[in-house]
This record gives sequence, C-alpha cells and structure tokens, in this order.
Amino acid sequence: MNRRTFLESSLIAAGGFALGPSPELVGQRSTQPSRQGSGTTDKPMIGIQVGAVSFVDEGTDKVLDNFQEMAALNTLFLATFTYGRGIAGRQPRGNPLPDHGKQEYDDDYHGGIFSTPHSQFYKGTSIVPEKAPDHPNYDVIADVLPAARRRNMKVICWFEDVFRKEVRGFDRAAEVDLHGRPTTHTCPRNPNTRNFWLGMVEDYLRSYDVDGLMWGSERQGPLNNAIGASHGGGGNPSTVGCFCPHCLDAAKKMGVDAARARQGYTALEGWVTAMRGGKRPADGAFVTFWRILVEYPEVLAWERLWNEGLRDTYRDMYRKAHEIAPSKGIGWHLWHTNSFAPFYRAEQDYAELSKYSDFLKVVMYNNSGGPRMAEYIRNIQGTLFGDLTPEQTLELTYRLQQYEGEKPFDRISQAGLSADYVRRETTRAVAGVSSHVKIWPGIDIDIPTRPSEKKTETEDVYAAVKAAFDGGAHGVLLSRKYSEMKLANLRAAGQAIRDLKLA
Ligand SMILES: [Zn+2]
Repeated sequence: MNRRTFLESSLIAAGGFALGPSPELVGQRSTQPSRQGSGTTDKPMIGIQVGAVSFVDEGTDKVLDNFQEMAALNTLFLATFTYGRGIAGRQPRGNPLPDHGKQEYDDDYHGGIFSTPHSQFYKGTSIVPEKAPDHPNYDVIADVLPAARRRNMKVICWFEDVFRKEVRGFDRAAEVDLHGRPTTHTCPRNPNTRNFWLGMVEDYLRSYDVDGLMWGSERQGPLNNAIGASHGGGGNPSTVGCFCPHCLDAAKKMGVDAARARQGYTALEGWVTAMRGGKRPADGAFVTFWRILVEYPEVLAWERLWNEGLRDTYRDMYRKAHEIAPSKGIGWHLWHTNSFAPFYRAEQDYAELSKYSDFLKVVMYNNSGGPRMAEYIRNIQGTLFGDLTPEQTLELTYRLQQYEGEKPFDRISQAGLSADYVRRETTRAVAGVSSHVKIWPGIDIDIPTRPSEKKTETEDVYAAVKAAFDGGAHGVLLSRKYSEMKLANLRAAGQAIRDLKLA
C-alpha cells in the first residue's frame, strides 16, 4: 500500500469529516465547501474553544451534553497550553460571569500545560514544561477524550504562543530587542523555542489519540510593532525584536546588514516618539516615514526576517505532526489584526500558508471587532496616518481591506462589525487557500469589551454563523472560550446550524 492509498483509506476509516488531508490528496477530493452535511466525509466542523476550568467546574458529561444539545457541536478545541487568559481560566474580574460555571473570579489564575507534560519530549529545550498549577491533578485531554469519543465528537489540542517570563528556562529562549535587552516574548528562531513547540506537538500526538492540533501566535514583526499597527498596546519602537544571536546569524545568511537595520529601527524609534509627542514635520507623517524606509530598506528586510522565523515554526510543526500522524490535521489560529491592519494582512499570504496548513481558523470576531478596529485606528493614526483624521483613517482602512457598509468612526465601537464582514473575510480566505485547506472562521461570543462598547447579542451570533457558511466556510469555531459565553448566545449558534440543516 503506497502512502497515498494508505492516507485515503485511513481518512475513510476515520469516518466523519477529515480534519485535513495531506497536500498529496489535492485534486482528488471535492473542492466544494460542504454545506449540506450529506456525506460522512464532508460534514462541516462545528467547534468550540473550551478550557479545563469549565470541565472542572461544571462536570465533563454535562458540558459535552450541553454542547451537543445547545449548539450541535462536533469538535472540541481544548486549551491545552497557555499562560494567557484569553482561552483559559474563567472571566477576569471586571467582566460579568456568564450564566453557567462557578460564580467566582479566579484571580490567582496561572496557566501552563493543562494536560500531563511528558518530559522525554522536551529534552531539546531550556523551557521547563510546567503543569498548570490551577488544576494540579487534572489532565484535560485524558478526561475529555473518552467522553468525547462516546459522543462521536472530535478533540483538537489548542495551544498558543503566550508565556510568563518567570517560566524556568524562558530566559534562554527570549527575544532580544533593539537595545539588546530581553523581551517578554520568545524568539521564534531560538532552538529552545522551536524545540519546545516541536516537543509539544510530539507530546500531544504520541501521548493521546487526539484528532489534530491547532496553534496560534498573536505576534508580528518589528516594523508593524514599531508603528503600532495592531489593536493591541499600540506598539513600542524601543522594544522591537529580534536582535538575538540566532537572528543576527540568520540575517548574515540572508545577506541583510544588521548594523544598518539597527540604525533604521533607531531612526524609526525617534520618528514614532516625535509623532506620539504631537510633532508634525513639515513634510508630514507619511512622507517622513517613507523616507526612513527608502534610506534604510533593512527595516523592511528585518520585518521579513522576523516573519520567516515564524513561518519556519509553522513549517517545522507541520512537518513534525505529519511525520507522527499523517492523517491528522494541524492548522493555525490567525490573529484578529488580519482584519484591521493591511500591513499584517499582507504578511498572511493564504497561498503561502497553504503549503503548511491543513486548516486555518481565521479570526473574524465581528462584535469585538468594532472596538478593536477603533483601537487599531487610534494606534495607526497616532503614527503612520498622522496626516489624516481618525475618520479618514478608518475610511481608508475599509477601502484597503475591502469592506463595505461598515460603521463610521464615531459608531464602530458601539456597533461592531457586520455579519457581512464575516462573509467577505470567509470568501477571501476560501479563495486564497489551496483546495485541501479547510477554512473555519472564528466566531466571537461574549468576548469582553468595555461597558460602552458592543456586546454580543443572539441575533449577532445567528447572523455571523450563517454569513460564514454563506461565504463558503468548511465549519465554524465558536470563540474564545466557553467560560465567557452566555448560553443564549451559544443556542443562537445552534439555531443557525440547524436552520442551515448542517446538523
Ligand atoms: Zn531572535
């Protein structure tokens, strides 16, 4: 039996939907997105992100029964590693607790590995694989997997690039900034970082019979960070990276002059500081920014260098996962900045990503997307688009991102982005990837926003799920975590799935 025949039979034997066949199968399978749920092999993926705390608080069987009954869910994305609060833990204090789960804030949330770390897989890294102390005697995969199997549900390990700098051995994996100081992020090129992720891929796939893996890195390169091109903290040009020895070495191999790159980023640091301080050069913001780029093209080369480090991580994880379990899928969570910043979007090339992806969860959170878009506009208008007003910057962004009919600047935080944005982004992703790559839009349910900002309503969830399938999605992924979702909103997703006759 050759590899291709083996893969095909294992896909058929596996039943249900295939998470992602190998690229060798391209052209042999239907390229049409599945919308009817008729065949067993093209059933759409209806998934939810859920952390350990929900099973501990509410009981595994009860949670899974609810998932099936309320939202016809068939796939669980278990948060298996993170130090962040976005996908694990309960609601952080300051946000109302939803109508299920323990009615108590977990202020002492810590994070880490929520399954059982098997040390033999982490020999090549300085980073110590830390069992999350939040649930010291609980292994979320070992607990949920058999219960999911009994219900014919799939289990995906979902882990992300979020650390605490206090983790033992982190210091030997840290990114180094423009001024030679360690940052609170890992360098994607550092072997300690790479081997940590590869060890984790191997640990999940060899220690448990899970159905696939999803990893996410909500990070971008030094140029985008310097100008604050995201909805995050607005960037800080003095802490951009990476200038560690591994990256300097990679630059040399690529023929990029590190000293010139450093000079360019120092010039950019001065420029951003002046812009933020309200200084307006006679030639304006845009022209003086562009002047730095043409004077120091190494600034752009360093942005590419950083991205190649991340792409190599994807490539290596994909290769490792397919070596161990060729019929199981591995794919990526693509950060929400993709929806706001054309700079980041340019670096998320769907055709390129297709070479090392079985599926993509493209974040299309339309509710929190409103306030987040406004935040991005404030950040980028404070630097690169200082010649424009925030209103004009948002108009320009809508044109560049090819959105239509979205709300103006004074209403976007309260109104959110539309379901049509979800449809457009789905269509763009489906058109951009090779036919073997599944597109599973991330739909937001009750992601915390400030009191005056857009909150998720049942009709929003219903419309967004419908829009995703209308755009050709192969599934949907309800995000970010069950422990922040209201049950009525989860039911609204289920209503859309049933009305579409997908369940
Ligand atoms: Zn580095």
